[in-house]
Amino acid sequence: MALDEQALKALGNMDLKAVFFDMDGVLFNSMPFHAKAWVEAFKSIGIDFNEYEAYMREGMTGNGTINEMFQKTYGRLATEEECKKLYQTKMHLFEECGKAGTIPDVDKVLKTVKENGLDIYIVTGSGQKSLINKLDSAFPGIFSKDKMITAYDVKKGKPDPEPYLMAQAKGKYQKNEAIVVENAPLGVVAGKAAGLFTIAVNTGILKDEELTSRGADLLYHNMEELWEELPTIIKTSKKQ
Ligand code: MG
Repeated sequence: MALDEQALKALGNMDLKAVFFDMDGVLFNSMPFHAKAWVEAFKSIGIDFNEYEAYMREGMTGNGTINEMFQKTYGRLATEEECKKLYQTKMHLFEECGKAGTIPDVDKVLKTVKENGLDIYIVTGSGQKSLINKLDSAFPGIFSKDKMITAYDVKKGKPDPEPYLMAQAKGKYQKNEAIVVENAPLGVVAGKAAGLFTIAVNTGILKDEELTSRGADLLYHNMEELWEELPTIIKTSKKQ
């Protein structure tokens, strides 16, 4: 699902000014660690959960994931105490995995976006306190504190359009002035629900159709693929 006529037409109607980047699975290769931690955390209380299911729920809150699995296994929601305990186990297992590296070639994508004079936003459900420091050390000079939407800003989070609508409002962009880069089904749902052109990059283990069926406008399998078509995407969508 690379640049076809339909995508080129949609991009041609744009006046691109900003790119909204998701973080986990787009900038940092943290999803394998999250998935592993969830599988092991559920295993510790005897619930079967696999990595594919973890990737499908990327972006959901911890309690959301826990309640879905309790409902499925026991036909009831988890208690507050159960949620808290299991989420702590998951976070502990995640931290034991160490520091996630960056997604290969995403630095090239960011550089191209910046060189073309477009604004770069982070739109993430993550609530890490030192996020800007982490971003700065991995991608020097790319991100700024005033162009971030994180867990601290939103009430609902993805798949609700709220985080992308907040980024749009923050930069005072029209719908045709910003595009989204996402890796997760629920992230694509959020981007499309916000009315934005949404590029999916399948950096994980999911089948492509998990992303295309959620309405992704373009699909790539890695950042290199996106980077190769990025000059055309920008040229088509940016008014001079
Ligand atoms: Mg993601």
